[in-house]
Amino acid sequence: MVQTQTAPPAARSAAAPVPVRLARPLGESLRAGHPWIYREALAALPERPAGTVVDVLDQAGAFVARGLYDPLSPLAVRVFTLDPAEAVDAALLRRRLGEALAARRFAFDPQDTDAYRLCNGEGDRLPGVVVDVYGAVVVARFDGAAAAIFRPHLPEALCDLDLALGRAPESPRRLQTLYERTPGTPGQLLFGSPPDEEIVVREHGVRLRVDVVRGQKTGLFLDQRDNRRLIRGLAAGLRVWNGFCYTGGFSVQAALGGARSVVSVDSAPAALQTARRNFTENGLSPADYEFACADAFVHLRQVAAVGGCYDLVIADPPSFAHAEKSVRRALIGYRDLFVLTMGVVAKGGLLAAGSCTSHVRMEDFLAVLGEAAARCGRPAQVLEVRGQPGDHPSPAVFPEGRYLKFVLLRLLG
Ligand code: SAH
Repeated sequence: MVQTQTAPPAARSAAAPVPVRLARPLGESLRAGHPWIYREALAALPERPAGTVVDVLDQAGAFVARGLYDPLSPLAVRVFTLDPAEAVDAALLRRRLGEALAARRFAFDPQDTDAYRLCNGEGDRLPGVVVDVYGAVVVARFDGAAAAIFRPHLPEALCDLDLALGRAPESPRRLQTLYERTPGTPGQLLFGSPPDEEIVVREHGVRLRVDVVRGQKTGLFLDQRDNRRLIRGLAAGLRVWNGFCYTGGFSVQAALGGARSVVSVDSAPAALQTARRNFTENGLSPADYEFACADAFVHLRQVAAVGGCYDLVIADPPSFAHAEKSVRRALIGYRDLFVLTMGVVAKGGLLAAGSCTSHVRMEDFLAVLGEAAARCGRPAQVLEVRGQPGDHPSPAVFPEGRYLKFVLLRLLG
């Protein structure tokens, strides 16, 4: 294997990829693009550090894939290439990011959107590497210790790219600032200097403020972009309740779409503050709308207790399960939440239900919604079954990658 000058320490110390042999017949699934190999599927675990480049061999000893190894993770190997001639190094990072950027031209219109996911890890054949673009500010997340070998090479790889995709009025747009986010901690500056002001991005023409250093995830939940636009188209004249609103993306879209009223509820005070500012940012007066810093479950019970109701209820809660074993509990959690939300939907009104729990499949999510409707004694129609947008791709053989579910229902009774 050819190592470049700039190869990261872990990759450079391995003169050649370390062979690891499969104990299970996974060759076919890996060749079809499945990116993960669990520790139990390997015949032996080499004593090598996280980030070691390994060649995965089938039970007959033939090359199947090349990837990065992590001795401590349940995911012992994540696959980066099926080509034995392709090195896992800084050049691969640059190539993959270039390909990902080119593919984004089908995902959104850069004329009115400048916040997007440039790299969706497994979905862009860079497992564990997530890169979100907010104008000229970029936020990266490395999932797992192995993917972090790319950290030193990321600024250079990004500097090569026109982040405006060659089509926005201000194109080309070059990287100004790069942060790294680790869940639960503030962003760390990797490149450039902090922007002078809070960032304002455009999403389908809507202006949204983003705190990339202290906001949740990398600053915005970019995966709901198209679902937020759907809500704008529906909202005219409706009374809208948006629980788990974060910085009010759905709420602003609903208000711009002509909603009669919008109630935004979130338990995080900082998110609600930004939500208010996002109304102002779009020429709407926050004083004309209601904001509640509260537990959404409690708030719903209070509304129900006084017989309140809404024409459009949006419920997009955080993940309810982080492991396969908690899926059953998560499904019960969703059912209880949707029973509560359906309790405040007016006759003939709409419920927009979101789930970002990757372990919950769409069929199960739809079944839970049906169960909640049955418990409420209200027939429900499914109007839309949606997922994540094109800048959040996933391998076809990797259903875990299609984590976002967004279902629009009409409650008839
Ligand atoms: N729909 C949002 C993203 C939602 S993320 C958007 O389009 O941007 C989930 C949000 O739920 C977070 O903002 C989090 O603060 C909030 N949250 C978590 N638990 C909550 C609870 N029990 N009640 C209200 N909000 C909650």
